[in-house]
Amino acid sequence: MDTYMTLTAYGDGAQAALEKAQDEVEKLEDEWSVTNENSEIYQLNHSGGNPVTLSDDTADIVGFALEMAEETGGDLDPTIYPVLEAWGFTTDENRIPSQEELDALLANVGYERVQLDGTTVQLPAGMEFDLGAVGKGYTGDILAQLLEDEGVTSALLDLGGNIQAVGERPGGGDWRLGIRSPFDGGEGVLGMLLASDCAVVTSGNYERYFVGEDGKEYGHIIDPDTGYPVDNGLASVTIITEEGKRGDALSTSMFVKGLDEASRYWQDYQDFEMILVTQDGQIYLTEGIEDQFTLSSDFGNMDTHVIERDEQ
Ligand code: ADP
Ligand code: MG
Repeated sequence: MDTYMTLTAYGDGAQAALEKAQDEVEKLEDEWSVTNENSEIYQLNHSGGNPVTLSDDTADIVGFALEMAEETGGDLDPTIYPVLEAWGFTTDENRIPSQEELDALLANVGYERVQLDGTTVQLPAGMEFDLGAVGKGYTGDILAQLLEDEGVTSALLDLGGNIQAVGERPGGGDWRLGIRSPFDGGEGVLGMLLASDCAVVTSGNYERYFVGEDGKEYGHIIDPDTGYPVDNGLASVTIITEEGKRGDALSTSMFVKGLDEASRYWQDYQDFEMILVTQDGQIYLTEGIEDQFTLSSDFGNMDTHVIERDEQ
C-alpha cells in the first residue's frame, strides 16, 4: 500500500496476534496492488473488458468503493487512476497534463460503468480500478477484527496516517490520538483527540504533491469532474468513524467536496465526525467531537469553528 504501518497491541497474546496481522496485510497487498502482476486488481485492469471473478475480500472492497462512489455523487471515484497516472502521481514523475489529454482520459473514468455481480466484476476495456482511497481504511477494519478475534482488547494501528484504535488504551480510558497538521509537510501535530474504538483517517495534499512549472502546488487527490487536483482552500480533512473503510472513503471525498458541501454532507448523514483545516488556518470541528479535541499549543493562533447540527 506504499506506506509505513505501525501496529501496536497490548496484553497476552499480542505478539502472536501482530504476526498474524502482518501476514494479513501482506495478503491484502498482494490482492489489491495495481502494479503487482499477480494481484486481482491488476488482473481486473488487464481483463480487456471480460468478467473477472474476485476473492471475497476483494469483491467486498470493490463493492464498498462503488457504493461510496454512488453515495458521494462520484466525488470518490475508484476509476480515476488513469488521470492520476497522467499527473505522474503513480511514478513520482510529476507533470501537468494538457486539457486535451485530461479530457481523453476522463472519457474512461466513471464508476457507474463498473458491473459487480456477486464476486464477478466487469470493467470496460480502457478503464482502470484502484483502491488507493479506501484500501488502507478497509485493511484497518480487517486487522482490528483479526486482533479482537485473537483476544486483543487494546491496540493502536497506524496505517500510513490512518489510525485505528481497538478498544481503550491499556489500563482503560480514551486514547490520546495526535491529529497530524497539514502544514510544514505534515510534520507537526495539530491537536489531540480523545477517542476509543474508532478509526481516525486524514486526507490532505501535504503527503503527496508537487510544485508545477507554474509555481503552483498540485496534490494527489483529484476532482473527478475536472481531472485536476483539488484546489478548494482545504488543507486537510480528518474523519472519525466506527469503520475505517468509511472514514477513508469520506476523508478523500469530503476533501473533494470542500468546506461547504462537506458540512452539508455531515448534516445529512451524521454517522461520522470531522475536522476540516483550511489553507488559511481555520479549523472546523463537527459538534460531536468539540469536547474531545484540543489544539496543540503550536497552533494556538488558529481560529476554531464548530459545525453545529441544524435544528430539525
Ligand atoms: P492517502 O491514501 O494518501 O492517505 P487518501 O485516502 O485521501 O490518501 O487517498 C488518496 C489516493 O486515492 C490517491 O493517492 C489516489 O490513489 C486516489 N484518489 C485520488 N483522488 C481520488 C478520487 N477522487 N476518488 C478516488 N480515489 C482517488
Ligand atoms: Mg481516503
